[in-house]
Order: sequence, then C-alpha cells, then structure tokens
Amino acid sequence: MRFGIGFDLHRLVEGRKLILCGVEIPFEKGLYGHSDGDVGLHALIDALLSAGGLPDIGTLFPDTDLKYKNISSTKMLEEVLEILKQKGFKPYQVDLILICEKPKISPYYEKIKKKLAELLKVEYSKIGIKAKTTEGLGWSGDTEVIACFALAVIIEKLHA
Ligand code: MG
Repeated sequence: MRFGIGFDLHRLVEGRKLILCGVEIPFEKGLYGHSDGDVGLHALIDALLSAGGLPDIGTLFPDTDLKYKNISSTKMLEEVLEILKQKGFKPYQVDLILICEKPKISPYYEKIKKKLAELLKVEYSKIGIKAKTTEGLGWSGDTEVIACFALAVIIEKLHA
C-alpha cells in the first residue's frame, strides 16, 4: 500500500462552467485554468502520481502544451490511471477536502462520490469528500478561489 497527497487552487472567473471532481456544479463562475480548472481532480491526480513515485501533474501535462488546452480533467485522470496501471498500481481509497466560501458543495457530495468511484473504479465507501469554508478569512474568504487537498491510497495489483 502506498500513499500520496496533493493540493491545488484555482481562481473563480466569470464565463466558465464550474467543474469539480468531474461534476458540473451550477454557479455563476467557473475555475480558470489551461484545462477545465478542476481543482478536485488536479489535487487527486497529484496525490495518485505521488503515491506511485511519478512526476507531478505539471510535468506530465505542461500548461505550455497546446494539446492540453481546455482538456477535460477526467481525461487527464484517465491517462494517469493508465500510467499507474502500467506500473502495476491501482487506486484503493481517496479522501478530498475542498475549500471555498461559495458555492455550497455538500448538496453534491453524493454525485461527486459516485463520479469518483466510477472514474477510479473503487468502492463508493472508499471515497471521502468534504467541503470547508475559511469563515470568510484568508485566500478563500473573498469567494474568488476554490482549493483542494487530496489523499490517495494505491495498492499493487498483486495484492488487489
Ligand atoms: Mg490545477
């Protein structure tokens, strides 16, 4: 069993869809980024890569590469899962903390958990998701960003 942690933060801007952990969430702003800006999946991808002893997301998907412009982060996750598979690893459990003032994420917990279980091919009960505010203080206090911490546990397939 191996563990990795990941973190990401993106700005909220007008004129973009809000995609979190592969789920579209109705909100007046979306996350800015070279890809779809999905902080949840970006933090998770870094956690998975780290657990596998692999280079980070910025190394694998450079934002200078036009190939990755507006790429769906679920596609990036699929590529990463394939790399892990080739190394003999598979995801076992993940835990995410989303941090933002708005929107309220809790109504989407179930949808997000189902999506992550489907993408990672792990049991629903092995997905943890929670959202926190910073009580109006600090970098998420101005409603302009969403951040995410992620933990990933992967196992060698031999033991799966
Ligand atoms: Mg990112």
